[in-house]
Amino acid sequence: MRSSNKPPQVDVVEQLLKTSPAIKEPVHAVHRLYNYRKALSTKPFTARGKKLIRCPKCLLGVQFCTCEHRKFLSTNISVMLIMYDDEVLKPTNSGRLIADLIPNTSAYLWSRTEPNPDMLAQLADPQYQVFLVFPEQYIGSQQAIYNQIDASVLAPDKKPLLVFLDGSWRQAIKMFRKSPYLHTLSVLSIAPSQLATYALRKGSHEFQLGTAEVAALALEAAGERENGAALTAWFDLFVESSLLGRNRRQKEIIKPIELYINNFNDAVKKAASRS
Ligand SMILES: [Zn+2]
Repeated sequence: MRSSNKPPQVDVVEQLLKTSPAIKEPVHAVHRLYNYRKALSTKPFTARGKKLIRCPKCLLGVQFCTCEHRKFLSTNISVMLIMYDDEVLKPTNSGRLIADLIPNTSAYLWSRTEPNPDMLAQLADPQYQVFLVFPEQYIGSQQAIYNQIDASVLAPDKKPLLVFLDGSWRQAIKMFRKSPYLHTLSVLSIAPSQLATYALRKGSHEFQLGTAEVAALALEAAGERENGAALTAWFDLFVESSLLGRNRRQKEIIKPIELYINNFNDAVKKAASRS
C-alpha cells in the first residue's frame, strides 16, 4: 500500500527533480509563468497524451526530457513573450524554447483589459529598441515595418527587444488587435523570401510556423544567423521528442534522437564561435 495520497506520477517527477540537477537550473521566465498560471487554474490542464508523465520544465515525457541539453546562447537580443491565456501550460507551446536559449527573455500573460504594468514598463524602457515580430499584412500604416534589423535601423545605444505574441495565429491576431500599446511599436516582419528559404530547407509546405520557428527567423533577420540555426535545431529536437512521447513515429522513419541532440550541440558550438 502507498502511504501517500499523491498520484504515483508526482512521486516520479519529484524523484526526477532530486536526481537530475540539470532540470532544476537555470529556471527561466516561462518556467515561472508556468507555475504562476498553473496556480491560477481551478482544474488541472488536460493536454493530449495526459497519461504521459511529463518533465515539469520542458513538459516532454520524462524519458524524452531534453533539459540536460539546454544551453543559453550568447546574444545581443532580448525577447518578450506575451502569452495567450493557458498557452504557457500547453506541452506543444514552443515559446518556451526561446526562453530556453535566450537568457534575457521575459514572459507575461496577455490581458485585454489589464496589461501587466511590468510588461508596459519594459516596453517603455529606454535601453531597448522594441520590435514586434508580426506579419506586416496586419499592420496599420502608422507603424514602421522592417524586414531586417541592422545598424541602419538600430540606434547605437539601444539593445533590440523582440516581442512575440505567443498563441495560435488566430489568438495572436486577436492579441494584436485588442492591445493599443502594440500599435505604436516598430514591426519586424519576416520577408517572404526568408520564409520561402526556410520552407525549402525544412521541406515543408506548411506555413503555420510555431513561435520558436518565427523567432529563429527573427534572430536571423537581426543579424544572428547562427543563433537562429541553434534555435531551429532546438525546436527540431523538441518536435521529435514530443512525437516519440506520443508514439507518433513509425519505427521505420525514426531517426535516433542522438542525431537531433548532436545537431543542436553543433549549432550551439558554431554560434559560440561566431559571437
Ligand atoms: Zn525536461
